[in-house]
Amino acid sequence: MSETEQDTPAELLPYEELTRPEFAETAAATFTAEQLSSAILLQGPCPRCRTPIEVHLLEQVVGRGEPAQPAAEPKTIFCTCTDPHPNRPESRRSGCGAYWTLVLNRARG
Ligand SMILES: [Zn+2]
Ligand SMILES: [Zn+2]
Repeated sequence: MSETEQDTPAELLPYEELTRPEFAETAAATFTAEQLSSAILLQGPCPRCRTPIEVHLLEQVVGRGEPAQPAAEPKTIFCTCTDPHPNRPESRRSGCGAYWTLVLNRARG
């Protein structure tokens, strides 16, 4: 029948809130993290719909004079693409519904 679906964006993924272990693995391998002044900018393709997305993680300032917060802190990342995904609820303006946990790796230094 049909060959493997490469380069077939015509087929729209329905919105679905789900996570899979490989989402986290894929995102960890493909996302880049850039340290901004008060946030971390994550960029990479959504592991589900493969649309390049950007996610700003605001750094939580825990307190004045506190030492740096723990280096590895798991964060839940939601896909924020603006592609049309059928069945997306009104309350959500973006994303395909995929989410995953990202552990920021900045233990260095
Ligand atoms: Zn997505
Ligand atoms: Zn998408």
